[in-house]
Amino acid sequence: MGNSTIDFEKEINTLNARGIEINYYFICKTKLFLFMNNIGLEKNHENVKLGKLLHENRYNSSNKNKEVIIDKIAIDFINIKDEYIEIHEVKKSDKMEVADYYQIIYYMYYLKKLGINSKGVINYPNQNKKKEIELNNEYIGKITSIIKEIEEIRNSNNIIPPTKKKYCKKCAYYEFCFS
Ligand code: SF4
Repeated sequence: MGNSTIDFEKEINTLNARGIEINYYFICKTKLFLFMNNIGLEKNHENVKLGKLLHENRYNSSNKNKEVIIDKIAIDFINIKDEYIEIHEVKKSDKMEVADYYQIIYYMYYLKKLGINSKGVINYPNQNKKKEIELNNEYIGKITSIIKEIEEIRNSNNIIPPTKKKYCKKCAYYEFCFS
């Protein structure tokens, strides 16, 4: 399936982002900054708990469907096909569809660097909906520049000032940003 071990070592060391960071990049860069700096209010937030519950009930009840952790990425579950692996993410709703797309694009890009071909599926069980996605050159170009920008945010000491968005009230950092 593709690249050599030497390629892996060289390429993979440049990929520090976690999938959730790619997701937050699209949702809110303040949130991304806070998360990266371990200002962790997320764990006990209701929306986060709901997501975990959904996940456990619908997708992790059989041995086939286990979270797969590969270095810095954690894929919700995978199905192994003949020529590629199918990687799955499970989301509560499709309200943040672009963020969800790029999270799974990042996983496919990461796996490609490991020499593994993959295709992505985003599952929205509450809406009985699935979206399939394949890595292409356009996505590779975009994810490369997003990764670069995320690393700039990681290396910065300056908090990104919060700006109000329609979903701020559901965010675990709301009090932090606006009280
Ligand atoms: S409350 Fe709003 S501005 Fe603050 S981190 Fe959350 S989404 Fe971003």
